Amino acid sequence: MPRKYLLIICDGLGDLPIPELGGKTPLEAAKTPNLDRLAKNGSTGLMYPLGPGRRPNSDEAHLVIFGYNLATDYPGRGPIEATGVGIKLQEGDIAIRANLAAVDNDLRVIDRRAGRIEDCTPFVKDLDGIKIDGIEFIAKPGTGHRLALVMRGKGLSDKITNSDVHYVTENQIVENWEGQKVNIPQPTDNSPEACFTAEVLQKFLVKAHEILSANPLNQGREMKANYILTRGPGYYRQLKSFKEKYGLSAACIAGAGLYKGLGAMTGMEVLPVAGATGLPNTNVAAKIQKAREAMAEFDFIFVHIKPTDIYGENGDILGKKAFIEKIDAALDTLEDTKAVIAITADHATPCLLKDHSADPVPVLIYGPNVFADGVEKFGESECREGSLGTFNGQDFMKIFLSC
Ligand code: ZN
Repeated sequence: MPRKYLLIICDGLGDLPIPELGGKTPLEAAKTPNLDRLAKNGSTGLMYPLGPGRRPNSDEAHLVIFGYNLATDYPGRGPIEATGVGIKLQEGDIAIRANLAAVDNDLRVIDRRAGRIEDCTPFVKDLDGIKIDGIEFIAKPGTGHRLALVMRGKGLSDKITNSDVHYVTENQIVENWEGQKVNIPQPTDNSPEACFTAEVLQKFLVKAHEILSANPLNQGREMKANYILTRGPGYYRQLKSFKEKYGLSAACIAGAGLYKGLGAMTGMEVLPVAGATGLPNTNVAAKIQKAREAMAEFDFIFVHIKPTDIYGENGDILGKKAFIEKIDAALDTLEDTKAVIAITADHATPCLLKDHSADPVPVLIYGPNVFADGVEKFGESECREGSLGTFNGQDFMKIFLSC
């Protein structure tokens, strides 16, 4: 049987010592007999996902861990999210993240999330398929107030600013956005493509405002879902698939849209799992079970587990520790699959920082022919002593696939 690879990324798993846990991290403090056994019988180490001193975003870190080059392969967040909600992008599409927002009659933003609208589907369906100046707009609902917007046609550019009042660009953030007038997208270079794209997008936003304002569902709403705030535009280029890059058929098991998008973009087949939500209520056991089954058909299986990051961002120390124990429970008898197994994180999300950090993350690689380095437990401190040493995310696939 050809070798099978299972990569489990626990988002934001890495952490820092916490006084409340006796100076241990949540991973070190958690009872994790399965992770510890895999670590003991495998090789361990630490990884800087984007290299030392860099605080990763999840999407960038995943692409680098998968062996892609950010400088040439990173399409921006828009295309990844659009792929994640099921839009089949074509070369040259501009994909944009968007929110349904509430504005007043002067287009001043009252709420960036339209009162945290729970399902934007009934609003977004009226915007899908609109054509302006030869450009088609594809709009699909994401989670809650979020949607993905794609501009398809000739002569487009992603060098434009956002209509979002909070993020003028991804690097220019306005904190006191309440009551600010929506931004009009502007070109950020002098190309005719950027000017054209900004102009057509603005026409769409005006039209969308008219259509949304007339939606009967808005009549009873205090926070009317009547404007589209755009951000994170990206130009879509086809990436080399896992099959082309590594000769491996690959599958992706994830709950949250961003990670399904990453999987789909890298040519993985995104496998649906009932109860995989990308939220703390996600069914970890069902995802691992799906991974076990998928090995019959695929060579490489990527499993993404999100809640470790959510607990870290909420500063919920005990919640993070308890969730790690839940992950561990799902890994019972994982060795029986005979797969080469890697378990790691895309970045640390220390509970005391409530944010991503530049700290290295623990890695374990277990397999029938992998050196057992005798590290007794899967934890940040223990992995520092492991045989893989400390390496950068860009080397991960080389190490993993050589096992
Ligand atoms: Zn992450």
